[in-house]
Amino acid sequence: MQLVTYLAGRTPRLGAVWHDVVLDLRNLSADMAAQRAARPARDALLPVSMLALIDGGPALWARAHEVWRYGCGLVDTLDPADLQSRHVARPLARARLLAPIPRPRKNIFCMGRNYAEHAAERGAAPPDRPVFFTKPPSAVIGPGAPIVHHAITQALDYEVELAAVVGRGGRDFGADEALGHVFGYAVLNDVTARDLQKAHQQWFKGKSLDTFSPMGPVLVTADEIPDPQTLGIRLRVNGVTRQEATTGQMIFGVAQLLAALAAGMTLEPGDILATGTPSGVAAATGAYLKVGDVVEAEIDGLGCLTNPVVAAEGQR
Ligand code: MG
Repeated sequence: MQLVTYLAGRTPRLGAVWHDVVLDLRNLSADMAAQRAARPARDALLPVSMLALIDGGPALWARAHEVWRYGCGLVDTLDPADLQSRHVARPLARARLLAPIPRPRKNIFCMGRNYAEHAAERGAAPPDRPVFFTKPPSAVIGPGAPIVHHAITQALDYEVELAAVVGRGGRDFGADEALGHVFGYAVLNDVTARDLQKAHQQWFKGKSLDTFSPMGPVLVTADEIPDPQTLGIRLRVNGVTRQEATTGQMIFGVAQLLAALAAGMTLEPGDILATGTPSGVAAATGAYLKVGDVVEAEIDGLGCLTNPVVAAEGQR
């Protein structure tokens, strides 16, 4: 499933994309129960938020898949007007998508220097152990939302990354079990103010400004990504390719990273791990992001995350 969080009026709701339509999973679950002549019991209904779905565990995920397959059948057989009148679907082109998890409960776990060529372009040796840091929930924005070029930085950079979202929590599990803890995958752009990163010596500040964690457009469930180390990953600025690699070039794969992170530290449903970026960042060339630029971060099977760069309000 390609899960999304979309805005219906002013309310974020859980959806799933099928062809060019966003299915509303809560309304679909009610429609399905009604069509089967059953009074929809409260526990038959799906939640309206992504985190509530993730928290629900495997039984609820299986139910979401069942409801989604029912919705796909409706999309394939009904005409669009009927779909909309039943409040179960709307055209993707007219849906405003938010980040799949618009406000994570915890900081996003991130991995630094996880591609050898990127470590080299930053003048660093490949690490022997994963280099972890975090970004705060307040930095998250969705597809289409602007990345703010805060006045505090003159070195605004991008980093396309594969993000894994934890479904089943746990601690002290091995790399061989780790992918079983993943709920799904998404594109994340680890936007970075390089000058702040350097000035403060520790990475947190330079990577944590408001709007510095674009994520989306979709969260693809793990069943559709059996091997997360085989995906093409790339980033364009104004249509020009800046980063181009495959996730197979990671030094530590998703499973190794999760196992290392979970050693002695509990991972919980909804936790997000960004797995590092390939070479081609602006810090290596000096071609930093400018107001007016459009950044497209893309991973095979996970879609394209597009965000414009804008000036902060009150700035020129
Ligand atoms: Mg990064």
